[in-house]
Amino acid sequence: MRPIEEIYSLLDRPRKVAIIMHQKPDADAMGSSLGLFHFLKQLGHEPTVISPTNWAEWLKWMPGAGGAIDFEYSPEKANVVLDQAEWVFCLDFNTLSRTRHMANKLRKLTCVKILVDHHQQPEREFFTYGISDTGKSSTSEMIYDLIVASGHGTIINPDIAACLYAGVMTDTGSFRFPGASAAVHRMVAALKDTGLNHTKIHENLFDNFLENRLRFTGYVLQHKMDVFYEYNAALIAIPWKDLVRFEIKTGDTEGLVNYPLSIQGIRMAALIIDRDEEVKCSFRSKGDFDVNTFARKYFEGGGHYNAAGGRSSDNLDQTVQRFIAAMKENSSQLQ
Ligand code: 5GP
Ligand code: MN
Repeated sequence: MRPIEEIYSLLDRPRKVAIIMHQKPDADAMGSSLGLFHFLKQLGHEPTVISPTNWAEWLKWMPGAGGAIDFEYSPEKANVVLDQAEWVFCLDFNTLSRTRHMANKLRKLTCVKILVDHHQQPEREFFTYGISDTGKSSTSEMIYDLIVASGHGTIINPDIAACLYAGVMTDTGSFRFPGASAAVHRMVAALKDTGLNHTKIHENLFDNFLENRLRFTGYVLQHKMDVFYEYNAALIAIPWKDLVRFEIKTGDTEGLVNYPLSIQGIRMAALIIDRDEEVKCSFRSKGDFDVNTFARKYFEGGGHYNAAGGRSSDNLDQTVQRFIAAMKENSSQLQ
């Protein structure tokens, strides 16, 4: 993987570009992709955003989201874009498996592949150019850096600003995680200068749910959360039937894993959900418990030091038992 700086001088010649992200994109994956989309469009390129799967209702307000292609829903359309692309930007993921059914297609592409990502241990060999920086708060911050460093900071418009702000704000937990550096705050100040309405974005992202989601959150916290005080850990485990009962859609469980961390003394939180096709796990920690290593070791996953995910091919109960055993094995690191 050659340094990202090498593409700066190549940005002048218009190209067909595909921009892809990880499956079930969050606000950083979608925001960085659409931010890059609006930037490349202004430079005269022909960009198209493709998500490996569908995305949450609460991301649909983002400028340009309506034109993004869902690979699972429209594979033919997505394949045409990928086949014609001269460049494929891969944003906010480190391994191709994070693109789910798109991974096989991606492995066959012979065009230029460019990585911009902040997760640990990326699949470097796959990419022609790229930047991987785990010190960055978000991929959206990295797209902002790319725009500025390539000499185009002055063309950042309110659409670019809205998309990048949504990504950096959510990936820093509304600017509370350690990744919210001085540079992040300077970036937000610069985005504000372009006319960014940050209040509206917070409303779009946090005050835009249906009643069932709030009822579901209450139910889950009351009935499905176990706190293991001796291990400073907590677990929320959700059966498939509860997702059906509360009509839970893509993205509705986002943020749930953070609740147990608000309990005094709790340093690690896990969320295990039976999604029918697979059992999905999310891990969050505070301080020096490394959930990236934990997710890699026990649940075929990874991510960041304090936020990671994984999966399990066992059923929900077996996965919960495996989690409890893994938690006990890590007892000394959790103290
Ligand atoms: P979440 O718990 O919100 O799904 O993911 C938390 C973090 O871990 C995100 O940065 C995400 O990219 C990463 N992550 C989630 N699931 C997986 C997985 O199955 N494999 C890997 N390598 N990373 C994951
Ligand atoms: Mn991210």
